[in-house]
Amino acid sequence: MAFQVLNHPVVLVTGGSRGIGAATAKLLAKLGYAVCVNYSANETAAHHVVSDIEKEGGKAIAVQADVSNEDDVIRLFNTLDNTLGPVTHLVNNAGILLPQMRVADMSAERINKVLMTNVTSYFLCCREAIKRMEDGGSIVNVSSAASRLGSPFEYVDYAASKGAIDTLTTGLSLEVAKDNIRVNCVRPGFIDTTMHADGGEADRIERVKHLIPLQRGGRPEEVAASIAFLLSHDASYITGTFIDLAGGK
Ligand code: NAP
Repeated sequence: MAFQVLNHPVVLVTGGSRGIGAATAKLLAKLGYAVCVNYSANETAAHHVVSDIEKEGGKAIAVQADVSNEDDVIRLFNTLDNTLGPVTHLVNNAGILLPQMRVADMSAERINKVLMTNVTSYFLCCREAIKRMEDGGSIVNVSSAASRLGSPFEYVDYAASKGAIDTLTTGLSLEVAKDNIRVNCVRPGFIDTTMHADGGEADRIERVKHLIPLQRGGRPEEVAASIAFLLSHDASYITGTFIDLAGGK
């Protein structure tokens, strides 16, 4: 894979320590980006991603920051300014889901935690990134097929948070198009990461795979490839667009 990238691109991948974010960070490093691998708690996983990148001759740093916290986001971007340089590209990827539950049983605390982590964080990171993209730039938001499907009986709060990301993508792409900043979105579904265990069902993909037209879950690397395309100069006339990666669902 060889997508065209600008000279000296600097990308922040939020939640780059594991799953889709880790696969994306590694692919972007191979394509020539200097990569900031953001993480929240799992320092060991983040450092593994950085060392895998360095072993392949790439450039990366790991920075801890809870992206749902405004002070942390400001510190994260300032750290990047002083190390790799201001971001030219952003992958908003960090996200959580909580144990499966009907809406009827959800507390305000739970709903707010999901919205702060999955929505507020994307807004804050977009805000800090576009301030720095004076010569244009590119943002990819990681949403979910859940925004279309609603995730009934599992996590409607999570699905609604991803609906907000779809709307953020559309609205922000129109606000910043004149500044040559592109904002696009991928909507994965049923990707093989440990996120499903956080929902209380580690083998969720096994249970649902017969309902997926392609009859299998996806791999993080398959999502990373679409993120890398949308981020790159090969997608230079694409903004406000969605790529669905859900095996046909
Ligand atoms: P994952 O394997 O659970 O990894 C989550 C990542 O997000 C980790 O790097 C984690 O950091 C980071 N993170 C969580 N909360 C954070 C916070 N407050 N601040 C900074 N980082 C934080 O998840 P994944 O499956 O790769 O999912 C990545 C994205 O894809 C999410 O937005 C998710 O909603 C979306 N997605 C996933 C699927 C799927 O089937 N897996 C489907 C559709 C969409 P630590 O390592 O420090 O915990």
